[in-house]
Amino acid sequence: MQTGPVFRSCGASALLMVPPLLKFASGPLLGPAMLVGAAERAGHTVEVLDLNARWIAQALPAKLPWTPSPFVGDHDRDEDLLRLVQERFRLTMLQHVGGEGGRALSLDAMVALQAEHDSVEHAARSIAANEQRWITAQFGSTPRPDLFCVSVLYAGQVLWALAVTLAARERWPGVPVVWGGAHVTALAAEIAADPRYGIAADAFVAGYAEDTFVELLGAVATRAPWPRECFRAGSQQWERARADDGQIVPAFRDLHLPSGARLTLPAQISRGCAYGRCAFCTYPTTEGPYRELRTASAEGVIAEAIRRDANVSFKDSLLTAPLLRKVGRLVDGRLSWSGCTKLSPSLDVAMLMDLASQGCRTLEIGLETLLDEAQVLVDKRQSGDLFLRTLDAANDAGVALVINYMTGFPGVDPSEEARCLATVASEVSARVSLLAKIEHNHFELERGAPLSQRPPAGVRITGQWPWSSVLGWSYEPAPGTLRVVS
Ligand code: SF4
Repeated sequence: MQTGPVFRSCGASALLMVPPLLKFASGPLLGPAMLVGAAERAGHTVEVLDLNARWIAQALPAKLPWTPSPFVGDHDRDEDLLRLVQERFRLTMLQHVGGEGGRALSLDAMVALQAEHDSVEHAARSIAANEQRWITAQFGSTPRPDLFCVSVLYAGQVLWALAVTLAARERWPGVPVVWGGAHVTALAAEIAADPRYGIAADAFVAGYAEDTFVELLGAVATRAPWPRECFRAGSQQWERARADDGQIVPAFRDLHLPSGARLTLPAQISRGCAYGRCAFCTYPTTEGPYRELRTASAEGVIAEAIRRDANVSFKDSLLTAPLLRKVGRLVDGRLSWSGCTKLSPSLDVAMLMDLASQGCRTLEIGLETLLDEAQVLVDKRQSGDLFLRTLDAANDAGVALVINYMTGFPGVDPSEEARCLATVASEVSARVSLLAKIEHNHFELERGAPLSQRPPAGVRITGQWPWSSVLGWSYEPAPGTLRVVS
């Protein structure tokens, strides 16, 4: 029996691989599905190897049932089971990091890729050699594609991306390899400047790329020169790919869900961020200028989600109040959906009740911090009073909240941060019927964020690694101040 993808003999064929990500378990990623949808519309064939979904599926303990979450979207996951899977993943990785020729690294450093090129390559080759059986089983009986593509969303996927690419090269010698995705976009300038990034990929593509991907497949099919947006590592030049902003209906392939989990499909009605000012955030840089998309794409996802009895997670970086209203009208109560927003006076109880009646079940709120000095530092001002009113409105409307909160800002008193976080937590738990969780993250200085391009007074960049989007930093207070944070 044929178990792998089957290519038709029409146009070019590509195999698109998503390396293990281990953050989501309830559905596919949007970017690869957009590429598949665009390619199929143009008569090409793209099959997907979702190694994220497959890795989670094989690592889940058979006897422990997946407990459905009351949240919709990225937080619809069984936290305990996912943590178990992540722990298994870390143990697998532990066998491949460090130990040779002075290249030993801690597991944490390797997962964050705070490592030089030779250490990264060493670990990737170790994964390719020692996990060969599993990787080969995933290829199954897949026929030789015309093109092997990899979508990399964040640094934690790079080792497996390299390892599986090396395995694919061995299995299908001569098949060209192209990498893209948000992490490639974030590192595009570095990749173009240094040939050492090219140990496994022939070319890279930065930015949303539906149009460029179709052009690339056409070039592969006809042996024509590749589009100039496909750049080589060390070529010293790169430019953003071209995208179809909204007509493409994504095609979701290779779906694997934990037994008992509900499928969530991703959709988008805008790209970029209408606010675009948060100094810690890389989205405006990686996603490009803010623009609203035509709604054909999201409408296609909604229709498919209804057919599959799935939820929809809107992946827009920021659904402003007008965009939330637009999503509400599009969905019109036909399924449950989630989205990401920030505090706004418009999000009052009347609006949230409207959204709830239109199917909105979970809103992720980028609160980040309520401390004045941290808000000034990151240029995201949101009042405590507005936060409390939003909690009350969500409570009354029955909309669940995921509240993103951050501590560890440079120059900000950690005890003040802890006190403020505790206040946020106690305000949340005081509203007993409110379904809410606080997603607490530690501040990281991201390459490409305004704070790393123009570090504030006292912040010094102390470390930079080729594949990591996170920079090392230290903070020295100006003379006369007392605090030191690093
Ligand atoms: S944190 Fe959210 S609101 Fe701020 S710039 Fe990034 S995407 Fe926009």
